[in-house]
Amino acid sequence: MSKILVIGAGGVSSVAVHKMAQLIAAGNGTFGEILLASRTLSKCEAIAESVKQRTGVAITTAQIDADDVPALTALIEQEKPDLVVNLALPYQDLPIMDACLATGTDYLDTANYEPRDEAKFEYKWQWDYHDRFKDAGIMALLGSGFDPGVTSVFTCWLKKHHFDRIDTLDILDCNGGDHGQHFATNFNPEINIREVTANSRHWEKGQWVEGPPLTQKQEFDFEAVGPKNMYLMYHEEIESLKTHLPEIQRIRFWMTFGDAYLTHLAVLQNVGMTRIDPVMYEGREIIPLQFLKAVLPEPASLGETTKGNTNIGVIATGVKDGVEKTLYVKNICSHEAAYEETGNQGVSYTTGVPAMIGAAMMLSGQWRGKGVFNMEEFDPDPFMEMLNQHGLPWTLEELEAPLAF
Ligand code: NDP
Repeated sequence: MSKILVIGAGGVSSVAVHKMAQLIAAGNGTFGEILLASRTLSKCEAIAESVKQRTGVAITTAQIDADDVPALTALIEQEKPDLVVNLALPYQDLPIMDACLATGTDYLDTANYEPRDEAKFEYKWQWDYHDRFKDAGIMALLGSGFDPGVTSVFTCWLKKHHFDRIDTLDILDCNGGDHGQHFATNFNPEINIREVTANSRHWEKGQWVEGPPLTQKQEFDFEAVGPKNMYLMYHEEIESLKTHLPEIQRIRFWMTFGDAYLTHLAVLQNVGMTRIDPVMYEGREIIPLQFLKAVLPEPASLGETTKGNTNIGVIATGVKDGVEKTLYVKNICSHEAAYEETGNQGVSYTTGVPAMIGAAMMLSGQWRGKGVFNMEEFDPDPFMEMLNQHGLPWTLEELEAPLAF
């Protein structure tokens, strides 16, 4: 039985740890012990308390600043986990990977590295660790959330079972939940706003096509949500999918936003509150976006009030036995059900469950390798099976025609 070190104690971590504890309680044998460590110890303790109440499983907690590589290395050396699950922020990816290298420990995360001073994310920084991980005989699994994560598994599963070739891929992410707040983000506000305000970028015929943020919009009727405006955005799995499935001619990522969210965001941008460069305030430097994060609701606090569903899936058009077809695989997740089960809203749930499943894939040996890997490099079948068993069931549907846009 394995020992897991989970780093970070936000909404995603809370769901992942509850799910791992459920498996321990069920005597599944994959997860043995869980150590939850984060910057703020009281948040780890609150999760541990909830896990104990809901599952009867006791987990241990520790305080750690994951940016401090020597301190994290010492913690890993002392605790000797089999796997480090990074559910802190993308800024911590490289320091945590460094500590894993120093200690010869496997690594998993749900979001790719971003430098603090530039709102830019790409896999290069983490892919550059491949040879060092390989030489050390350890494995890193990158992006084991929903998107990135499940969306890549959906794509590989379609390719494995239903297509000889995929030509176009659209990833559709709809959060149809209402949290009752004027403005709040459903995962870490700083990371969310950096992502949403970045230029749109999609992959088409061997090159990136870039445009201004949130300008290309389409209406789409999402099952269990209704019609919503979705906007073309850049998202990290486009980079890994176009690398590992180079046959795909066009890959686009769409996310829904309500008008009120976009109006608030425009005002915040216009007044400079989303800036990530330092400004002087009362004699000290502050980063406006970090200050904004401090006054916005914590995503982990939105669970109780959020009602409605998320609906995230992929639509692929391709060819099987010479015939073109369009298939749609998706999951619908209820915010209320997620809250009832784990005390967290659906966006944390749809990320935390795949983080647990990715960890289970690695620990059970079903997904193994030496080096740094993305989700689409492994057999999708056992992952798809676990999604159905652990709260994120999916459906497959054939559409009458490719998307008209
Ligand atoms: P939260 O902000 O709720 O939680 C982040 C946690 O990380 C907090 O507990 C925070 O501590 C902790 N943390 C931050 N810095 C450090 C540090 N230096 N050392 C130790 N702990 C630290 O975020 P979420 O739970 O919403 O998101 C977690 C991750 O999941 C993010 O990387 C996000 O990008 C990713 N994500 C991925 C998705 C996917 O589908 N792939 C979807 C949604 C999110 P403190 O409480 O002290 O601030």
